[in-house]
Amino acid sequence: MDKKGLLIVISGPSGAGKGTICKELIKQEELWVSVSATTRSPRKGEEDGVNYYFLNKEDFKQKIKEDDFLEYAEVYGNYYGTPKSKVLEKVHNGNNVILEIDIQGALKVKEKYPEGIFVFVLPPSMEELKKRIINRGSETEESFMTRFKSAYREINYVSKYNYAVVNDTVEDAVTKIRNIISAENCRVDRIKESILESKEEFIHEQFYD
Ligand code: 5GP
Repeated sequence: MDKKGLLIVISGPSGAGKGTICKELIKQEELWVSVSATTRSPRKGEEDGVNYYFLNKEDFKQKIKEDDFLEYAEVYGNYYGTPKSKVLEKVHNGNNVILEIDIQGALKVKEKYPEGIFVFVLPPSMEELKKRIINRGSETEESFMTRFKSAYREINYVSKYNYAVVNDTVEDAVTKIRNIISAENCRVDRIKESILESKEEFIHEQFYD
């Protein structure tokens, strides 16, 4: 039996730094990055099919009807969704797949795919979170308050995750996630079948072929 890949879900409140961590992580680990669909407009430099699949609301809703998403959620007035068939195909073919999604979406993935690895990225402190949200620059006072309040509420969801990684520095956070991946790759419930199978194969080749 071929070993399935890992489905790694990185999530956490706005401003915790999950996007930056994922960018660095994919430079260091062989991971297939899922490209989400969204109804938000592209930002400067973003490309369709690379950063997101940019869809209008009608097309997004059609995809919901056709059950094309592993999960979808409304985040700050826009829809975001993870394409289902591609992600599951990659995992079943043995690739380690990474999703960087919001908390509502991550919890929906957990219901459908509980063997995923759910990592919650935390800011080092609430003070630092406030600074990071402000430093993004694009936020108005109103949108800052919305994001800060929702981050404050969202931190309660950490208990639903398998791992919590405090983002003190990107380098340390990436190292911690790489260690998690490495440990998960050694879990008996993930590799038992292939160990037993290769043992049987060896015996067969030695004594029966
Ligand atoms: P942004 O618009 O800044 O790229 O992303 C806004 C939020 O949407 C981030 O928290 C990001 O993780 C989340 N997000 C991106 N793609 C998806 C997705 O496919 N599903 C869900 N639920 N959230 C997503």
